[in-house]
Amino acid sequence: MVNLLGLSPVELQAFCAALGEKPFRAKQLMRWMHQAHADDFGAMTDISKAFREQLEKTATVQAPAVRRDTTAGDGTRKWLLDVGTNNAIETVFIPETSRGTLCVSSQAGCALECSFCSTGRQGFNRNLSVAEIIGQLWLANRALKGDAAGHPIAERPITNVVMMGMGEPLANFDNVVAAMQLMLDDSAYGLSRRRVTLSTSGLVPAIDRLRDACPVALAVSLHAPNDALRNELVPINRKYPIRELLKACVRYIEKAPRDFVTFEYVLLDGVNDTLAHARELAAVVTDVPCKLNLIPFNPFPGSGYERSKPEAVARFRDVLIRADLTTTVRKTRGDDIDAACGQLAGEVQDRTRRHARREARATQEDSAPRAPRALAAEAGVPRVQAAEERVG
Ligand code: SF4
Repeated sequence: MVNLLGLSPVELQAFCAALGEKPFRAKQLMRWMHQAHADDFGAMTDISKAFREQLEKTATVQAPAVRRDTTAGDGTRKWLLDVGTNNAIETVFIPETSRGTLCVSSQAGCALECSFCSTGRQGFNRNLSVAEIIGQLWLANRALKGDAAGHPIAERPITNVVMMGMGEPLANFDNVVAAMQLMLDDSAYGLSRRRVTLSTSGLVPAIDRLRDACPVALAVSLHAPNDALRNELVPINRKYPIRELLKACVRYIEKAPRDFVTFEYVLLDGVNDTLAHARELAAVVTDVPCKLNLIPFNPFPGSGYERSKPEAVARFRDVLIRADLTTTVRKTRGDDIDAACGQLAGEVQDRTRRHARREARATQEDSAPRAPRALAAEAGVPRVQAAEERVG
């Protein structure tokens, strides 16, 4: 059975042609699947009965199955989705007055192991397929467009998509780009490039590839103003240091749908939130047209970090604003259901043996205590190597 949900318009045409059907059938199927959110060929009434019968024998329209569906006090909704072999990913819908944003996952887990990220602690299992990525938008639209009786709730509940859920989207480049092309396609979801944002931890060669393949809005997880600190918080920085990353951002803007890059900066109490860090950050991004999005850390069990105090957040923001940088502080949404930024965990069968490495590290720490920074630096080397194996 072919899952039609993940096929591009061209692939769908080829599929129809192989069954002896004209190209316009592919357009009809696209509209039924992605705009009417239908998964039952029998309901596709403008398609001939004979073709529908053929489809039933050869194809399916299948998004990941919903394991749990939770709504927070502020209306944020989180789905835990089954992606097989005991792996589950999370997708989050954030409603706001004038728009609705869907935060989409790209991998079961993540190999990059940023130290403040709940997903990074889960380990990595595999890349999601195109159908599993676009399936998150498909099922959220379906769930949000009607109540149980099928009555419409909002005509267009999802106005924006952010590739900011579980995983590093650029480490699953081909599938993420194919899914985003469906998001942009007028016969599918018809979102503008400005309303689809990809967030990366900074895979420099892949940022350049994205610029040519599918330039959507770009967000970069910066989180530190210098390489020494960023090497600890975002270990991929050891391979692609800040200077290289910022140059790639400037190159990206040449083709981007917005004339700036968004830098995300999670504020960790006493780690990266001092006035000196703020000043250093303002200086380091000075040549990049950018906006800064400050994210007070959302704690999760065993993270080892604390959220910065509100006064520290305000002081940090003010330094950036005084340096003429457009700066916002992200409002925490959905933290009562662990749906806030950095809290997504899902369920991941780790294939990186990270858990075993962490336990070995903990044993080493117990027997010979050393400075935490030295330990982190030491531990970072194999972490980056493991990530590179998947990124390359
Ligand atoms: S912050 Fe992003 S890249 Fe880093 S571990 Fe988490 S999901 Fe992966």
